[in-house]
Amino acid sequence: NTPLHELDPEIAAAVDAELRRQQATLEMIASENFAPLAVMEAQGSVLTNKYAEGYPGRRYYGGCEHVDVAEQIAIDRVKDLFGAAYANVQPHSGASANQAALFALAQPGDTILGLDLAHGGHLTHGMRLNFSGKQFDVVAYHVDDAGLVDMAEVERLAKEHRPKVIIAGWSAYPRELDFAEFRRIADEVDAYLWVDMAHFAGLVAAGLHANPVPYADVVTSTTHKTLGGPRGGIILARGTDFAKKLNSSVFPGFQGGPLEHVIAAKAVSFKVAASEEFKERQRRTVEGARILAERLTAADAREAGVNVLSGGTDVHLLLVDLRESELDGQQAEDRLHEVGITVNRNAVPNDPRPPMVTSGLRIGTPALATRGFTAEDFAEVADVIAEALKPSYDAEALKARVVALAEKHPLYPALGQ
Ligand code: PLP
Repeated sequence: NTPLHELDPEIAAAVDAELRRQQATLEMIASENFAPLAVMEAQGSVLTNKYAEGYPGRRYYGGCEHVDVAEQIAIDRVKDLFGAAYANVQPHSGASANQAALFALAQPGDTILGLDLAHGGHLTHGMRLNFSGKQFDVVAYHVDDAGLVDMAEVERLAKEHRPKVIIAGWSAYPRELDFAEFRRIADEVDAYLWVDMAHFAGLVAAGLHANPVPYADVVTSTTHKTLGGPRGGIILARGTDFAKKLNSSVFPGFQGGPLEHVIAAKAVSFKVAASEEFKERQRRTVEGARILAERLTAADAREAGVNVLSGGTDVHLLLVDLRESELDGQQAEDRLHEVGITVNRNAVPNDPRPPMVTSGLRIGTPALATRGFTAEDFAEVADVIAEALKPSYDAEALKARVVALAEKHPLYPALGQ
């Protein structure tokens, strides 16, 4: 029995049950991943006890000599990883990083231009109930009928509204953005360009996706999606012009004491992200998504009303369009859950159904790639998904195939089954 089991059996039971759920099912939520045990060890360390308001070498508390070392290593590693001149590793989450970045670049009431939430944008890019939508004047761009970001619309809206900040980045979009074109448009209207690479940062680190750092004024990211680290956020910049503003926006602007245990864990994950093994994993991630997109555009899937938005993918996720299927997003999510595959329902552009139901699914491969899935395994997963989305399906047979895949690639074996 561990100290947690001794002190709090109820919480220990929930943690154990969650471990078993992660081990026994196939995790295909595009924003999720499995952090290495070394990352979790740092995250669960004594660094959680330390107050360290300020930045390395300039703290408002005594006794920071060791957390200073860890935070400086995190900063240096992430700058190296993405070729940035500036890094802040303190944001508690992606949303906190975005809040700090936006308030460093603009003032409440200024105009911002971002991708519509219903077309794949994120809450923090101007959704009306989010700080970004409440405090800024939001103009949204969209994807076109082919499912691609409409750069002509971006340019037209930028010229018409002269935003202070243009946001490039997404939570549900299967293609690479053209950062050079965003930069050109931003320069034309004298706007700042902020890229939110939360989803695809791992692909950038592996050299499989264009790096936004040379193009953007500011880049934000989460550390827990494709990057595969602890839950958290970071801010990067190609130069140091905004360094002071960004630092003071994070602390004391929005945060108090940094989570030094999480920052140490971020440092470990940046070390992992610089490795050959990580690159190889990201290659399997992208390959897996391509295999899924190919399988779900095959004739039998199309016959069942399954389509893939934009016809494929360049990244770690694909968007399934169910507008022609007899299943809505909720029913499809439930069906995959029944056979042991976890995904999330997702609105398609101009979705006829409400946001709690939707007509689509977002399916991602990062977590399974971390588990060791190969092209052959992804082909089997793709087949199981295609079968499960057909009008008639054999749930028991599909469940057995999922169990076989999960057993082939044990997750966290050192933690027990
Ligand atoms: N930015 C993008 C593009 C995201 O997809 C997300 C998370 O879904 C975030 C920011 C926010 O990250 P967090 O959930 O850590 O606040």
